[in-house]
Amino acid sequence: LRMQHISPSQVVDTTFQLLAHRLRSYDVAVKIVREEPLPSVEADPEQLKEVFVNLIINACEAIGTGRNGKITVHETTTADAAHGRKVIIRINDNGPGIPEAIRQKIFQPFFTTKDEGTGLGLSIAYRIIGEHRGRLEVHSVEGEGATFIITLPVCDRPD
Ligand code: ADP
Ligand code: MG
Repeated sequence: LRMQHISPSQVVDTTFQLLAHRLRSYDVAVKIVREEPLPSVEADPEQLKEVFVNLIINACEAIGTGRNGKITVHETTTADAAHGRKVIIRINDNGPGIPEAIRQKIFQPFFTTKDEGTGLGLSIAYRIIGEHRGRLEVHSVEGEGATFIITLPVCDRPD
């Protein structure tokens, strides 16, 4: 890992630029909700980008093309200084959601519900976030979409 002090907001923006063409071809609109750029975390920007790419491509594939798709990213921080401040990035889509029966399996390597899926994207994302001392969780209501929630510790001593 090539750790640097970076703002995850910048990586979010870079990722959406990178995927702009794909998002247009799926007819998916993107909304980023942030008051100001997130504080720095210690992270490998290439690895974080890979996480966001995997989550956003999954969202596009879940939504499908030409369905008035929406991806919303909410960026917030926790105030709880006692447990260390954290950044929280929630990536929500308005696809079909994830049935409860498979929600526990989606982070396992090779688990896929797609004809041509590898089932690796979420297991890689989970590993990367873990290596950054963060958490990757999913919340989903069937029929109402899915939300992937990334939590990362804020740099103690930003430089
Ligand atoms: P793959 O994309 O190759 O199937 P992933 O590890 O990226 O592998 O995802 C595993 C499975 O999790 C997918 O096949 C799909 O069933 C489910 N999944 C992931 N993201 C979403 C999402 N945003 N909405 C609905 N299902 C999802
Ligand atoms: Mg995938």
